[in-house]
Amino acid sequence: MADYETVVGLEVHMQINTKSKVFCECSTQFGAEPNSNTCVICTSQPGAIPILNKKAVEAVVKTGLALNFTINERCTFARKQYFYPDVPKNYQITQSEPPLCSRGKLAITVGGKEKIINITRIHLEEDAGKLVHEIGSKKLDYSLLDLNRAGVGLMELVTEPEITSQYEALEFLKELKNIVEYLGTSKCSMEEGKMRCDVNVSIRPVGQKELGTRVEIKNMNSISGVRDAIAYEAERQKEVLNSGGKLTQETRLWEAEEGITKSMRSKEGTLDYRYFPEPDLVPFNLPDSFIEELQKQILELPRARKARFIKDYGLSEYDADYLTSARMIADYYEKAFNALKDKKSDSLSGNFAVAAKLLANWISTELNAKLNASKTCIAEAPVPSQNLAKLVSLILDGTISGKTAKTVFEEMYKKSADPEKIVKEKGLMQISDESAILRICEEAISESLKAVAEFKSGKERAIGAIVGLVMKKSKGKANPQLVNKILLEKLKAY
Ligand code: ADP
Ligand code: ZN
Ligand code: MG
Repeated sequence: MADYETVVGLEVHMQINTKSKVFCECSTQFGAEPNSNTCVICTSQPGAIPILNKKAVEAVVKTGLALNFTINERCTFARKQYFYPDVPKNYQITQSEPPLCSRGKLAITVGGKEKIINITRIHLEEDAGKLVHEIGSKKLDYSLLDLNRAGVGLMELVTEPEITSQYEALEFLKELKNIVEYLGTSKCSMEEGKMRCDVNVSIRPVGQKELGTRVEIKNMNSISGVRDAIAYEAERQKEVLNSGGKLTQETRLWEAEEGITKSMRSKEGTLDYRYFPEPDLVPFNLPDSFIEELQKQILELPRARKARFIKDYGLSEYDADYLTSARMIADYYEKAFNALKDKKSDSLSGNFAVAAKLLANWISTELNAKLNASKTCIAEAPVPSQNLAKLVSLILDGTISGKTAKTVFEEMYKKSADPEKIVKEKGLMQISDESAILRICEEAISESLKAVAEFKSGKERAIGAIVGLVMKKSKGKANPQLVNKILLEKLKAY
């Protein structure tokens, strides 16, 4: 049996993040009362004239620039004819040739190796309305039409068939989402349908140049779904070929619950959409200054930020990767770090990397766990970055132990409270006064004669029980390093 390679090409639709739709002034707000964000243009009334939203063009061009695309100065629109139950005018205004952006690329890292995925194009088009088949949990035996989404600007990005596994597809979509969120050109929320994806999958014997017959999986709305659908589809295709069958070009649907793809319709040859120039939108040229201005607005992108985090903060690849996986997390981290620096400008110098790492850990573990549990995004965390900085500062200067810090953090999260206040009010300061600790240690030793004897007979681990007793007596507030030091001295001399 032949060894096969998977080949994937993605068509990604992202809703453009503008206040109003692409050819009219209606709002793009998600979740509004059905058909409340509509006008004569986006409900397809005969004779209504589309007016191009400049902000939508800016968003597409900016995205293209960030992904190394060539921007085509000539901006033209085309009508794509189709029977659309959710677009009453039965054509979609889109771009054919040229699209706004041609030939871009995106770098992904899979298994420690970097790979460049070439992207064919990004073009601007309008979204369709939405057919509704149920109200609440009640299934209807007719369809309702909500046109709130009709006419919302979309950018469609099409990749070359160069993605060769489900893991690469997953990384591509994550990286794309991250970059677009950094730019602010789309919110990419798959839950709200702001990012949708058609996945083309084929297989071919390893070493063969020609592409195999492809299957298109339509309208995927989760990144993990894309990954699972590719894995399933590649296996299915292998089984068909290995059992002597033939693949046909077809459109399939992903059934997320069953974890399988099902045939929807065969797609022999291409549909003729009869594209023709949109007569209501005059072609025009984008001025150089327009493109240059957008180029200037593109600041640091995720990969560059990650490299800087490693270089400037001394963070590991892993930590930097997590912190820059979303712009909001990276912003939170930098704000917290700056607050920490302001607080401890003198004492931080030697401990710079320790402080950077400790802060990163608090964000990726404690804070992240709480945010996940309460489904809150980091920008709305009840612990603002200055408060986390204060907590880390209290740990760094030995005011509280790492263990106490966790208790304080609970309180901070629950009541959005200031850690310095909590520590003061509850008297949680660590005891770092040697004479006080000495007294408790002596007491503990006199009550742990068995453990002392064991320690003296060479069982060094026996000290743990005595440390435990000291911590208990001090209500967890004794500085553990000091406790260890003092106990060792005392026991050696015992
Ligand atoms: P259509 O518009 O009919 O969907 P395109 O030629 O524009 O077709 O291709 C759409 C997507 O399918 C692109 O991302 C492309 O890379 C991908 N693609 C084309 N052929 C194959 C193939 N044999 N295997 C996997 N992906 C493919
Ligand atoms: Zn409208
Ligand atoms: Mg397609």
